[in-house]
Amino acid sequence: MSLTPVFLPALIQSIADELEKNAQYIAALDQAIGDGDHLVNLQRGINALLAMGGELAELDWPIALKKIGMTLMTAMGGASGSLYGTLFIAMSKAFVSQELTIANFAIIFNEGVQAVKQRGKAEVGEKTMLDVLIPVGNALKNGVSNNLLLADLLSEVEHTAISGMESTRDMLATKGRASFLEERSRGHIDPGAKTCQLIICVIVGSLREQILPA
Ligand code: ADP
Ligand code: MG
Repeated sequence: MSLTPVFLPALIQSIADELEKNAQYIAALDQAIGDGDHLVNLQRGINALLAMGGELAELDWPIALKKIGMTLMTAMGGASGSLYGTLFIAMSKAFVSQELTIANFAIIFNEGVQAVKQRGKAEVGEKTMLDVLIPVGNALKNGVSNNLLLADLLSEVEHTAISGMESTRDMLATKGRASFLEERSRGHIDPGAKTCQLIICVIVGSLREQILPA
């Protein structure tokens, strides 16, 4: 199965809706260990993507991914703006074929995650969005090399995103603003890991609908 960017506008709208539905919770997480602007930063980025209307749907994948990255980079602000921008721009650069299959998505996603690690100078276990992105990248890679059925691979990605997000609760933050709190950063889920998990779960839901139409 290969996908074109036609479903992007509807997907971005679903992400906007999911963030809105969880707005209070996300804001509370960022008030606990951040400076309270994470949701607003993310919504600014998503709104800028929504403002592009159907334009993304018409583009080839590498150009669509690059536009998403540049738009997020300029519209969002905050640490998360440059990190999400980096993720999509690196994915665009890693795109060698015009086709998007799950196998080449696993490759380009991992290239994107690699770039985020370099940009943020962070690894797994530092209480950031990378505690979702890195395990999800590994789940994609393993799922593809084990020839999992797409439906099973999507479930694996979903569970991995949720457990990665939950794993941040007991971690000590060593990167970003939350690190200023030192030991007091423990006991709270990282807001960037939460929003990253929500976004990944919406993408999984959208792909599931496309492979298993009702
Ligand atoms: P800021 O911290 O600049 O206010 P945001 O509030 O938008 O930016 O985003 C905060 C989120 O960014 C954190 O919850 C964390 O997940 C992520 N983050 C912060 N610093 C890093 C980093 N160095 N590497 C990876 N992710 C990071
Ligand atoms: Mg913040």
